[in-house]
Amino acid sequence: MQKQCTRCRITKPLSAFNRRTASKDGRTAACGDCIRERKQVIYWAHPGERERASKRATKAKQRRFAEEPGYRRAFWLWTATKRRTTIPACATITAFVPICREADEKGAGYVLDHIVPLRHPEVCGLHVPWNLRVVKRETNLKKGNRFITCWNRT
Ligand SMILES: [Zn+2]
Repeated sequence: MQKQCTRCRITKPLSAFNRRTASKDGRTAACGDCIRERKQVIYWAHPGERERASKRATKAKQRRFAEEPGYRRAFWLWTATKRRTTIPACATITAFVPICREADEKGAGYVLDHIVPLRHPEVCGLHVPWNLRVVKRETNLKKGNRFITCWNRT
């Protein structure tokens, strides 16, 4: 599949465009080369700005960790899940805060569990807040990756 870059106007194969889940075709409007070039221009035009921005982001994150119950867990859950599956574009870290807070409040013996597993031969669950529940750690270990398609039997 081919696509025209909105910046350089060159038609290139889809693989030349960076991935972007929010777009209809799953790719950015400008091609990878254009984005790389633009980033270089910005980087050299503002010395030290990238480092300052990353420090600001770290600070803001840490402040949120300290102030918002459940956010720390939601953040790490997000990072860990991102490696295993594609998170739907509609989900945000903030959306997971309530369920994470619930898990935090219940204490160390409880974990978050995907009601419909993310990886399973028969079904494919989504990493969205409504597919999560707080369960006792032992319950989760016993369940493993088994999933009984009939809801009542679980
Ligand atoms: Zn381009």
